[in-house]
Parts: sequence; C-alpha cells; structure tokens
Amino acid sequence: MSYVKLGLHNVRVGNIFCIGRNYAAHVAELGNRPESEPLVFLKPTSALLREGAPIPLPPYSRDVHHECELVALIGKGGDDIAEADALEHVAGYGIGLDMTARDAQEEAKRKGHPWTRAKAFRGSACVSSFTPAANVSDPQALDIALRVNGEPRQQGNTGQMLFPVAAIIRHLSQHYGLSDGDLIFTGTPAGVAAVRPGDRLELSLSGLVDAHWDVAR
Ligand code: MG
Repeated sequence: MSYVKLGLHNVRVGNIFCIGRNYAAHVAELGNRPESEPLVFLKPTSALLREGAPIPLPPYSRDVHHECELVALIGKGGDDIAEADALEHVAGYGIGLDMTARDAQEEAKRKGHPWTRAKAFRGSACVSSFTPAANVSDPQALDIALRVNGEPRQQGNTGQMLFPVAAIIRHLSQHYGLSDGDLIFTGTPAGVAAVRPGDRLELSLSGLVDAHWDVAR
C-alpha cells in the first residue's frame, strides 16, 4: 500500500494524475506548443518514491530528466467540481519530481505510443510530505526551486501555470473523477535536464516544504 504524509498523518494514495506542458517556458524548451486543455497522463502507485529512497534509473534510458513540480493532494474527491469550489477539495500541497526518461518519451512520441515507459517507471513519482492546505493562502503564488548538487537548476512560480490548480481540478473531476487521496503533479517550470548517478536533488516549495533525493549509483 502506498501512503504519503500530510502533517502527522498518513494518507493512502489513490490515483496519480500528472499535467504536462503547463508552463510556457517549459513548453518552449522542449519545442512543444501550448495545449488548449490540460494534457493529462497517469502514473501507477508503484511509481511513488518517498523522501530518502534513492531514485532508480530505468535500464533502457540514458537520458532521465528531473521535472520539479507542485503536487496537490486531494482530500475530498468528487465529479464535476466547479472551479470556484475546487481548492476546498485539496487537503495539502507538496513538492515532487516527475522523473522522465526523455529518450523513451521522444521515441513514444515518434511512434505514437503511450508515455508509460517514459513517465511511469518505478520510482518516477517522487513526493515530499504535504503541508495542510490551510497553510497555503494562494497555491498560484508559490516558488518552486530545485538544486542539483547545490547548483540552482529549476526555479519557477506557480503563478506562471497555464492551467491553475483550480482549473486542473475542474478538468480532472469532469473527465475522470477525483477520489480522496489522489495526487496531482501540476507540471514543471523550465530548466529540465538529465540526472546522473549520485546526483543530489534538493527541492523547496516557498519554504513551506523541503525534500531531497539522491539518484541511485
Ligand atoms: Mg512533468
């Protein structure tokens, strides 16, 4: 069973939704175009990696990228949630890594295949503990920062999202339904790059949540 920490409590994780192409500068750095609605993909719960465990690299990839992202934890699920009510469904906010085998993703795009091999491998969903939503007055005003071996690598602000958290929740609840314990990776700002064995990745969400992982050697 897969759990995340919300304050002092363990919460069982349901679905893991991820949003792609949600920051204009990141859309541009990969040569993509902005989407007219949120680009959604999924990871299995077996992809979850809690803080402290080494990030495994899949043997079929030579180009695994970090994507540092705000992660929302759904406390109260629902269908057809209105945007105005959406944030009331969030139990907490954390920070995570949508680890991505970029070479496998390029191959999947070329062949028209799903992104599962690129995005859903074991350990590809790194998530911090979560701060209760009550501690976050505006989820669109949070700084996201990733340092790799002490060097700043990704820096963004959630105000730069093309689809804000409330719009994502509306969309996911309308098309797929949201459940208690679902996680939503909300997309990455610019600055994605490959990791190497032994790298240390340090993540910070506006000083509210910090986390770090080491890439397996
Ligand atoms: Mg991502």
